[in-house]
Amino acid sequence: MTLDLVLRGGTLVSPQATRPVTIGLAAGRVVLILDAAESLAGREVRDLDGLLLLPGLIDCHVHCREPGGHAHKGTYASESRAAAAGGVTTMLTMPNTVPFCGSAAVLAAARECAQRSLIDYGFHFGVTADNLAEVAAAADLPVAKLYLNETTGITSPLADDAVLRRVLALGLPLSAHAEGDTLDWLLGLHARWGTGPLYVVHVALAREVAALRAAKARGQWVYAEATTHHLLLTDQDAARLGPYGDMRPTLKTAADQAALWAGLADGTIDTIATDHAPHLREEKESGSPPPGVPGLQTLLPLLLEQVAAGRLTLAQVVRLTAAQPAAIFGLCGKGAVAVGSDADLVAVDPTAATVIEHATQYTWPGWTPFDGWTCRGRVEAVWRRGELVYEAGQEPGTGGGREVTVARAHRS
Ligand SMILES: [Zn+2]
Repeated sequence: MTLDLVLRGGTLVSPQATRPVTIGLAAGRVVLILDAAESLAGREVRDLDGLLLLPGLIDCHVHCREPGGHAHKGTYASESRAAAAGGVTTMLTMPNTVPFCGSAAVLAAARECAQRSLIDYGFHFGVTADNLAEVAAAADLPVAKLYLNETTGITSPLADDAVLRRVLALGLPLSAHAEGDTLDWLLGLHARWGTGPLYVVHVALAREVAALRAAKARGQWVYAEATTHHLLLTDQDAARLGPYGDMRPTLKTAADQAALWAGLADGTIDTIATDHAPHLREEKESGSPPPGVPGLQTLLPLLLEQVAAGRLTLAQVVRLTAAQPAAIFGLCGKGAVAVGSDADLVAVDPTAATVIEHATQYTWPGWTPFDGWTCRGRVEAVWRRGELVYEAGQEPGTGGGREVTVARAHRS
């Protein structure tokens, strides 16, 4: 077999081990992983000496504002370029578009828009009080989303025990926006009626971490997600950032933030995602600024800085942003660099720095709450299924992403 690309000498990071390798890619997949000393021939050979090689990141929580009325905020085409520049090669997108993605017709429209994505993608299908037949019919999607608190585009969240009981009994993976008391209520219903996994998005409060830790200890099939902004910003930053630091859930106290880090350390929190939620500056400057901040491009640089600061290991970063997202949602070929897996790869220079600035953000609105931050570590090159989609110092590519396929996860 002729290899399309040989990546020579990078240090491959996996949750289990870190070792220098030479990797052969063909037809968008990893076909060989050898010791770095071994030589391989290919159509193209690239030297990665001194660089780290990670599986492409999977961001489980992204808002692309299509289809429909919010597309001016950011599209699959625009936001996927920000993702690629940040080492994210797969995203799962949220259904709170206008119109809401809770029907076959809107899903078809979302798929049409998503074909312009640079990176691979999958969908959270939206659950409402009266679309259970459509939810059941969307069982080939990674997950269905429950909105149980108000947020952008959601003014009447689901709040009906009887409806939730029927949804939980479907046995599909469910993701849920459920804060505080609402989370306690949902965990109670899930313990009683749930037959599938429950993935709790953007956990932000110490009491939520405690509730999820207790649920896991009881053997409940639950997973928890934390966002980069809740891990790295607090209510002090919210005061400084004004509308640019406002999202749902809002930024919390330093004690809540410490609880998130404790949850990462003891495995209560399973994934780190961004809740990437683009809004234009003029919307943020308006009398009624919408909640939400972008995050796709800054996810990996911010986590690399946490590694440099000794707060996370590289193995944890790979586990939290690639291995576990793929396992939880059953994303075929994703989340690992292994023979047969999709060739989604990120080369990182741990000795270079990333200066995060509004001006260098590819997200359509062109701003970030982390403007001015310097991170140790820089994304050098990103491959999505073997295709170079980003190279440091150059514009990201365009298009070519495709929808993930799902092999339904069984409880291990
Ligand atoms: Zn969200």
